[in-house]
Amino acid sequence: MATPKKIAFFPGSFDPFTKGHEDIVQRALLLFDEVIIGIGHNANKARYFPIEKMTQWIEQTFEGKPVKVVAYNGLTANIAREMNANFLLRGLRNTTDFEYENSISQVNRYLVQGLETIFLITSPHLAPISSTIIRDLHRYGTNVEEFLPYSLD
Ligand code: ADP
Repeated sequence: MATPKKIAFFPGSFDPFTKGHEDIVQRALLLFDEVIIGIGHNANKARYFPIEKMTQWIEQTFEGKPVKVVAYNGLTANIAREMNANFLLRGLRNTTDFEYENSISQVNRYLVQGLETIFLITSPHLAPISSTIIRDLHRYGTNVEEFLPYSLD
């Protein structure tokens, strides 16, 4: 019997998708056959960068690679299952990320049996990059393109 394709679902807000996220995806492509980037959105919470634009920018970033981008709302574990992903992918920057990820990964494995979360430790030079900081810089007119793997158009 053929081994099942290893598909990782990488969930996040990606508001915006940064070079830190790109690094996680590039490294994951060495481990998985396909990576699906899931932009989670909540109809009651306004985004800073529009979801349609962010989807296009991420698609451009990984053109020609086995990477898909989907927007979703609802439970991450359910959408991962719907997309036939057998792994969740997350990045770990620090102990704060760890505390949160520790419990959420247990819950996800409880919700969907066998759904394992794989964590990649951030590359040190990218660890300080956070979407929140980039949004704040951009809001006050700072050019943030050095932190992003695409140009804002
Ligand atoms: P969330 O809203 O789910 O925290 P984010 O879009 O902020 O989503 O991040 C998605 C994932 O990417 C998380 O696992 C987060 O830890 C990871 N991540 C965020 N910034 C970086 C970075 N600079 N380097 C590596 N991983 C990161």
